[in-house]
Parts: sequence; structure tokens; C-alpha cells
Amino acid sequence: SLFGLPDQKPHERVLLAADAETGLKAILAVHSTARGPAFGGCRFWTYDNELAALNDALRLSQGMSLKNALADLPFGGGKAVIIKPAGDFDRPALFAAFGRAVQSLQGAYITAEDVGTTTADMLGMQAHTQFVSGIPRAGAFGGDPSPKTAWGVFVSIEAGVRLHLKRSSLDGVRVALQGLGAVGWHLAEFLHKAGAKLVVADVDAAKVARAQEQLGATAVGIHEILSADVDVLAPCALGASLNASSIPTIRAQLIAGAANNQLATVEDGDTLQQRGICYLPDYLVNAGGIISVAREYRNEGEESAVMAEVSRIGERVAELLERVKAEGTTPGRAADAWARSKLVKPV
Ligand code: NAD
Repeated sequence: SLFGLPDQKPHERVLLAADAETGLKAILAVHSTARGPAFGGCRFWTYDNELAALNDALRLSQGMSLKNALADLPFGGGKAVIIKPAGDFDRPALFAAFGRAVQSLQGAYITAEDVGTTTADMLGMQAHTQFVSGIPRAGAFGGDPSPKTAWGVFVSIEAGVRLHLKRSSLDGVRVALQGLGAVGWHLAEFLHKAGAKLVVADVDAAKVARAQEQLGATAVGIHEILSADVDVLAPCALGASLNASSIPTIRAQLIAGAANNQLATVEDGDTLQQRGICYLPDYLVNAGGIISVAREYRNEGEESAVMAEVSRIGERVAELLERVKAEGTTPGRAADAWARSKLVKPV
């Protein structure tokens, strides 16, 4: 349903923004402003059709409401997708048009990087809207959120290894990484430094070769990575990797990664639990990037303070696992209920 399922909060506002001159076709979805302006990145992607783009925008923006609430940010949830034009296009002009669309919402939505967009896109947009973040600033904190996202995933894996695998450190823990992109690469570095043994896969062979050379990683094919013989699985590519066909083959005991919307369905979370696999919900563990751009937007703090705030994700993982025990439910369902209870104005 365009207006959401009966048990879900419907979107407050969805804007279809088109500009014939630049070829812009964008969907700006404001799910909730209950906690503050809707904050979430902009995805630049090729979609099979316009409905698929709309579906992506709606799912991602609802996810941002939950992510921002669990991260205790004074922001609601929103997301934008720009449908990548089929032919040649003028990128700065396209993002300028998108910036004007963001501005037209007068602050109800604040944008930043997501898959397919860069700090350069955000910088260019600044001339057209003040509601943009993720911008490198000379001598001040700001810019690419990916390392902060990776740090949040890393502290989540540390907490999960301690609490679910009952191991005191990451030394010798085997981790499979699906995707060595902006987040996956930084995560691989953090894990390697902590003594983890890496198994990696990426469609980009150069990234895999670099991980083999620099981090001593073992490479496997993209169809083997989910079923690799490891302790931890970290999905850091695209969504819906945990589904009815992949779950029976997973050998890891803990799953924590950066990719948004990893579970194809809520029921897939139940199946993982039945198999004794602890799945740490994506929107809990990958909040480091939004914590970073939100602080930058509010012009708050320095690098060390941001890292300290991102590190608190590890404490939330511990609290979530307590809730799971107390409520006799799955991490996915417990996180969902916890986040939804926080979709109110923060005190
Ligand atoms: P990215 O595009 O830089 O990296 C994705 C990587 O996955 C690329 O190297 C790509 O080649 C690889 N890949 C694609 N399909 C694959 C497959 N089938 N098997 C193996 N590898 C594959 O993106 P990113 O910024 O690193 O983000 C990764 C995920 O984390 C995305 O789902 C994104 O939405 C999510 N996320 C990112 C951030 C952030 O700060 N960048 C924050 C929150 C969530």
C-alpha cells in the first residue's frame, strides 16, 4: 500500500520531483518528522521501473525513522532516490535540480550521501539548498560518513562476538565480508587490525586483490561468500541478501553488516533465530554514518566525540540482546518494537 500497512506508520509526505532540462526524476520520501526533520541519504541508482524506485524510497525512508530513533538522534526518517538517467547527463546540473527539490521541502527533509552519491555531489548541491550534509569542511569535522558506519559495524561485531559467541576478543575470529566498498573496506581494515581472519568477496576483482595483498584475506566467489565457513558474516553490499534460499546455507553464528534491509522478510529473521544464528539488525549497527552527518549538520563536536557516540552502538547491541532474552523474541522484532516506541519527540 502506498500509504503503508495497517500496523505501520504511513509516510507523512512523498514528493515526485522531475526536471525536463536535466533529466532529473527523483522521489523524496518523508516518513516521519516526529523526532525532528527527516534525515537520510540520497541514492542514485538504476531501477527496473519507477515503481521499484518508489518502493525503494519508501522502504529506505521508513528504515531511517527506525535508525534515527534507535540512535537517539533528534531527527525523523526520510530518504531520496534519484533514478539514474539512461543516456548521457550533466551530473552537476542534475544534482543542482535535486538540490532545488530538497530546498522546496523547506527543511522537512535533509539529505546526504548514499549508494551512488559522493561528497562532491553534496558539495555541489550546497549552492541550491542548505538542507544537505556529508560535506568535507576545511579544518573542521565533516564529510564521508563511510568510516563512521564501518566503526559502528565493527563495535557491533565486537559486542556480538563477546555476547553470542562467548569469545573475549576478535583475535582469530573468522569473518566473511560481502562487499569491499566504502564501508566494507574500512570494516575489513578494523577487523584485520583486531586480529580477525577475513574471507572476502566483491564483484570488483581489484578490491578483492587489494584485500588479499594488504589484509591477508582469503577470496571466495560472490555466490560462495554467504555460506563461507566462518564465525561472523558481514553483508556490506546490497539489501535482501538474507532470504529463503541463502539462510539454510549460512554457517556463521553471528550476522552484522552495513547493508540496508538485509532481511528479505521479517520471517527470515525468525528462521535465522531458529537456526541459532544471531542477526544484529542493520539499522541498529549501521547508524554510524547518520550519527556523523547529523553531528556535522548541527555543527557539533569533533572527530573524537563522534567516534565516542558511534561506539555507543555496541552498548545498544548489548541492550538489544537483553531485550531479546527478556521478551523471548528475535533481535529483528525486538529492535523494531524498541525503535517504534521511540518515534516521538525526544525529551
Ligand atoms: P559501495 O557502493 O561503496 O560498496 C558496495 C560494494 O559491494 C562495492 O564494492 C560493490 O562492488 C560490492 N558488491 C555489489 N554487489 C555485490 C555482490 N553481489 N557480492 C559482493 N559484492 C558486491 O557502498 P557502501 O557505501 O560501502 O555501502 C554498502 C552498504 O551499506 C549499502 O547497502 C548501503 O546502503 C549501506 N550503508 C552505507 C552507509 C555509508 O555510510 N556509506 C551507511 C549506512 C548503510
